[in-house]
Amino acid sequence: LARVRALDGATHAFLETTEALALEQAAKLDAAVASGEADGLGALAGVPVAFKDNMNLAGTHTTCSSAMLANYVSPYTATCVARAIEAGGIPLGKLNMDEFAFGSSTETSAFGPSKNPWDLERVPGGSSGGSAAAVGAGLATMTLGSDTGGSIRQPGSFCGAVAVKPTYGVVSRYGVVAFGSSLDQVGPFTRSVADAALAMNAIAGRDPLDCTSQDIRTDYTANLDAGVRGMRIGIVPAFMEAKGLTAEVKAKVEEAAEHLRELGAELVEVDLPNAQAAMSAYYVLGPCEAFSNLARFDSVRYGYCDPGHKDLGGQYEASRAKGFGAEARRRIMLGSYLLSAGVYDTYYYPAQQVRTLITQDYARAYEQVDCILAPVAPRTSFKFGEVSDPTDMYLSDMFTISINIAGNGGMSLPVGLGADTNLPVGVQLISPQFKDESMLRVAAALET
Ligand code: GLN
Repeated sequence: LARVRALDGATHAFLETTEALALEQAAKLDAAVASGEADGLGALAGVPVAFKDNMNLAGTHTTCSSAMLANYVSPYTATCVARAIEAGGIPLGKLNMDEFAFGSSTETSAFGPSKNPWDLERVPGGSSGGSAAAVGAGLATMTLGSDTGGSIRQPGSFCGAVAVKPTYGVVSRYGVVAFGSSLDQVGPFTRSVADAALAMNAIAGRDPLDCTSQDIRTDYTANLDAGVRGMRIGIVPAFMEAKGLTAEVKAKVEEAAEHLRELGAELVEVDLPNAQAAMSAYYVLGPCEAFSNLARFDSVRYGYCDPGHKDLGGQYEASRAKGFGAEARRRIMLGSYLLSAGVYDTYYYPAQQVRTLITQDYARAYEQVDCILAPVAPRTSFKFGEVSDPTDMYLSDMFTISINIAGNGGMSLPVGLGADTNLPVGVQLISPQFKDESMLRVAAALET
């Protein structure tokens, strides 16, 4: 807590700290140790944890970094947060993000951006930028983020943190404010692969409160020392040749591939012929789901209420116009248009067909390989304001989005600093659905 107080003025990873909860939890753990019950403590006992501000923690603000929810106080706790605390994690607070998780830099936060701890003039990535910056700056040992199109992996890459987006359905979404319900997935940021596996053990598993959560019982720590000898690792040539991929990031992925080959893995080229359409499909499906999910922030049931309106229509219009920032309004308007009568067949329906094709591409690739190695983001962190065109910003996720579309697991593993920018670079490991332990195994081998 002292470290957060001393350093977070610079990084602005935290929106709120939860001293009272932290001290209460610490006292509880101390009491258990004092009474000789230390053996019964959970895997995260005493570990300082913090949560993206789209995750409910009873009694704290859950703002989604939006003026719309600036005064919203959680009446209950999200399952992922509850599990981290039940496992003994000490809750330090809530972390900054892009507004409602729309963005790749935290610049859309209504409360000002977070800064990249490696260079305070640069973005930490996003949308889980606060979660990545907090781990990157050593302000928390483990944080949780959410990833709809890359929002765990890209900031993980920018801030040098291990960052895991599990397979869709592995971690409960109950109590996490929804962006794209069929794409959203919660996952951990940590400083090591072993810590990420422990975090996964704590938060994963079936939750009766989220009907899409699966009953997968895996010990994510079990394979970490198994090595990669005999494993087949997929490389996607189209990713490696992609326009916009910088030379230094490409070189890091190639080095990682070479390292895996030396460790006894077999490198296999795999094709994902429809992955090039993932971005287009995502910017149809994502806004449609966001438009539906954000309808609840209507100034009556939830959210900012603009005072002084005589009719409900006027109140809706003014409250939503003032409560939502520019990117949120853009997504809502896009989704509203895309789902309107007559337009649905032209965009939404084909986007769902593309989604099926991409899912099949991955399934076919995994007949040949155990795990895929790819870039996370095309480049390292950029300066504030440097990427101002929304569609340029969307390209930050060109290598991550297809994984959410297909529902696979994906993670970013830090592999050092880029040769040209001297900033952190992550490589992406992509697992078959519900085989998340395979990417952690490869990551552990690469990390050592
Ligand atoms: N950057 C992407 C977007 O803006 C992904 C965000 C996310 O994964 N939440 O939609």
